[in-house]
Amino acid sequence: MDGRGPTRLLLVGAGHAHLEILRRLILEPLRDVELTLVSLGPLHHYSGMVPGYLQETYQEDEIAVRVTDLVARARGRFFAGRAVGLRPGHQAVHVQTSPEEIVEIPYDLVSFAVGSNTAGVDAPEVAGEAQRIKPLERVTALHARLRMLGEVGGTVPAVVVGGGAAGVEVALAMAAALEKAGAAHRITLVEAGEEILSGYSNRFRRRARSILHQRGIVARTSVRVVAVHSDAAEIQDGTRIPSRLTVWLTGAVSWPLFRDSGLPLDDRGFLLIDDSLRSVDDPRIFAVGDCGTLASHPETPKAGVYAVREGPVLWQSLKATMAGGEPPRYVPQEGFLSILNTGDGRALLDYKGIISHSRWAWRLKDRIDRRFMRRYQECVEPEKP
Ligand SMILES: Cc1cc2nc3c(=O)[nH]c(=O)nc-3n(C[C@H](O)[C@H](O)[C@H](O)COP(=O)(O)OP(=O)(O)OC[C@H]3O[C@@H](n4cnc5c(N)ncnc54)[C@H](O)[C@@H]3O)c2cc1C
Repeated sequence: MDGRGPTRLLLVGAGHAHLEILRRLILEPLRDVELTLVSLGPLHHYSGMVPGYLQETYQEDEIAVRVTDLVARARGRFFAGRAVGLRPGHQAVHVQTSPEEIVEIPYDLVSFAVGSNTAGVDAPEVAGEAQRIKPLERVTALHARLRMLGEVGGTVPAVVVGGGAAGVEVALAMAAALEKAGAAHRITLVEAGEEILSGYSNRFRRRARSILHQRGIVARTSVRVVAVHSDAAEIQDGTRIPSRLTVWLTGAVSWPLFRDSGLPLDDRGFLLIDDSLRSVDDPRIFAVGDCGTLASHPETPKAGVYAVREGPVLWQSLKATMAGGEPPRYVPQEGFLSILNTGDGRALLDYKGIISHSRWAWRLKDRIDRRFMRRYQECVEPEKP
């Protein structure tokens, strides 16, 4: 980029938009680019299919993309580790590779797609016993615990903390998984706000509530879990809701990674970005998906659908920056098709006010999700002779 050698392009995190960058690099290799991708592990787990995985509709290899293979096909270097700091002045990212070791990786351009953490999960009263789901690799641990509880049998008391779309889907998937294993369940979905599924229409919420009720899941609102114990979730008045598995699925907050970078952040710690997906303060730093907040559209939900749409814009933006051209502008779409897997062979769909709880909606969701996965899984399949 400075004319002295290849551009060192560092991708941090294997989020959705970075999968697209890897795919494009495989299809259209860029000259004079030295690619490194840092991520926690070799797989990207696709959240849209997580509830289906928990209830055994999908196997892990159906919901995961092998990122290491994509990086190899894109002629890059994969580096396993957790990014823990960003030093814009030194053009370097600090990456923890073991409890004792932090290495510094230099860059000319860096892009972050590290997703988000879950609010409150690191509090000392919670962290020890709550089952986390972020980073998404953790879903395999949740899957294993559900299996184990299902095998023990009897009635399994469980709590899901957070009544957003993910909380509702995971509660329904847990019910389905335990029922499949022959166990009974007593699942409580706990939401601190006045309503579950905030941001959705009243009609959609009513429908979701009725589905939860039919499946034996109790939804409690205006209730805050303050501590998690091995046998219960404790709420603000000191009462304990019996629970052998408490899954923590509250709202998105940033990993601490950007905290000391000196760059402008939003109030949840996410990097503030311009319409070309770059830090508002440093055009060599990009952030996509949950970890970047658009300064022009700060209310954009932290959802995978936006992360996916940002992929092609990031590709063009990186290429324009390397070529010294004008990068494109990203405008988030208004609203999106919501389909919640209800764990009973059906899904609850909301598209512009049309609401349907049906097998048809499930088939549509399954088709969309499988198509997304094929896009990246097929990139790394061995070529046919
Ligand atoms: C159960 C569940 C279901 C959901 N369903 C949907 C849905 O149907 N539709 C939808 O739009 N949204 C859904 N979401 C929200 C969605 O998961 C997130 O918005 C989305 O995953 C964000 O994508 P991303 O590309 O920003 O990052 P992610 O997909 O979270 O990927 C982040 C990547 O970065 C890596 N990483 C994390 N931290 C570091 C670090 N410090 N250093 C290096 N690498 C790191 C991780 O290993 C991972 O590879 C769901 C969420 C959950 C929990």
